[in-house]
Amino acid sequence: MLTLIEQLGIGAADLAAAFLFLYGLHRMSSPVTAPSGIFVAGIGMAVAVLASFLYAFGVDTAARSNLPVNIGLAVVALVLGGGAAWWSGRKVAMTAMPQMVAIYNGMGGGAAGAIAAVELFGNKAQGETELIVTLLGALIGAVSLSGSLIAWAKLDGVINKPVRVKGQQAFNALVMLVTVAVGAYIVVASADKAALVLAMPTTIYLFFGCALALGILMTLPIGGADMPVVISIFNAFTGLAVGLEGYVLQNPALMIAGMVVGAAGMLLTLLMAKAMNRSVSNVVFTNFGEVAKHKQGKIKGSLKPIQPGDAGIAMRYAASVIIVPGYGLAVSQGQGKLFEFVKLLQAGGVSVKFAIHPVAGRMPGQMDVLLAEAGVPYDLIVQLEDINDQFASTDVALVIGANDVVNPAARTDKSSAIYGMPILNADYAKKVFVIKRGEGKGYAGIVNALFYADNCDMVYGDAQTVLVKMIEAVRGLNLPAVA
Ligand code: NDP
Repeated sequence: MLTLIEQLGIGAADLAAAFLFLYGLHRMSSPVTAPSGIFVAGIGMAVAVLASFLYAFGVDTAARSNLPVNIGLAVVALVLGGGAAWWSGRKVAMTAMPQMVAIYNGMGGGAAGAIAAVELFGNKAQGETELIVTLLGALIGAVSLSGSLIAWAKLDGVINKPVRVKGQQAFNALVMLVTVAVGAYIVVASADKAALVLAMPTTIYLFFGCALALGILMTLPIGGADMPVVISIFNAFTGLAVGLEGYVLQNPALMIAGMVVGAAGMLLTLLMAKAMNRSVSNVVFTNFGEVAKHKQGKIKGSLKPIQPGDAGIAMRYAASVIIVPGYGLAVSQGQGKLFEFVKLLQAGGVSVKFAIHPVAGRMPGQMDVLLAEAGVPYDLIVQLEDINDQFASTDVALVIGANDVVNPAARTDKSSAIYGMPILNADYAKKVFVIKRGEGKGYAGIVNALFYADNCDMVYGDAQTVLVKMIEAVRGLNLPAVA
């Protein structure tokens, strides 16, 4: 039993951790304060981890002999896990961040599932409610673990096509039903302790097996451009599973951290679903990633290459330029050169803005982070709904390594994987320059009619290399700066 002082100590540490999580999250709401927000939340996590060691004081006499071994194992796990995260976090390339986030998401779900497994196999649940909560956390955590691993494989290109078979949705529904039925059986059987001892281990394995299979089956068919919604759903799932297991362990820090992640993930899911113009229920229950068989008609027009220098100079003489960054900018790491080019244009009196699509790149918010890294002032960065009407009155739209987010098929082609998704209206600008390396398609795998349009010229090359040439060409004009 914990003494009153020890209980107060744990309570105070949990409260401090919870406060630090919430304050950190609050600071993450603006790109200016976000780095310190992450630091504050990290301190909260360290406090919560340290506080969990205080529970060691309360173990009963029978378990006391195992304490040194268990604490030793926990420390080894912390050093190994913390070390691996520190090393991979420092080493990861900006373009591999989405995969890393997917893996960490899965780890969170897996950790919640593991807590539930310890509770279930150890037959520790105190009463029906606790058992149901444990099972719910186990189900959601296991789905999040296996689903996030498939999401990782898709983002990393290990799986590069959606895997769909006939009757998949009916089969998924069946697996879901079986999982829930097995869970219900565990609850009913646990009322009779004799049946519990006989039936539980196999049944619990079956329950986890079904839940893990469900995560895989749900995620495999997803293709086109639906991945942002999936990533944020698993984010929400992980938070929810952790929160539920926090309730089971009666650990307030875990409950609050889980609920904060769950709520933030759910809001992100709603935002991503809105960005894709899909309802969340449609995404979760029915046509997850399903689109009619895509028949892309013949595209009119031709691809018209132009030299980087010529495009750069044309922009220097324009009155207004809107830049649309996409995944290719992150690949080329050209954000620093891009801002250098923007400053040259601004010095010549050109009005420059950045248009951000919510699903540009491979991770929610990736473009905002990329531009913040280059030092682009936040007032130049405008989100889709606020800038879309401005393209028609803009001289030049400069599309850099973006493709799906400016693909007009989303407006016109009902059979397209991205049909219905709001796009940035780059094609409405008087002139469009597109920087990309060749004829590579975007994530959704669709040819982009914008590139063939009369008002569009293609600037071929790696984005950073092209931007360097544009800068040289504009500097070579030796024009005076406009006051
Ligand atoms: P896209 O993936 O549609 O297109 C990127 C383009 O960049 C490609 O066509 C490629 O063409 C070009 N490119 C690649 N490398 C370079 C380089 N070094 N220099 C110049 N160009 C380069 O990107 P968008 O940002 O437009 O769209 C994002 C897509 O990813 C959407 O479909 C979205 O749904 C999906 N997605 C988004 C997630 C998110 O959370 N944001 C998560 C998962 C998926 P080429 O090869 O010819 O150079």
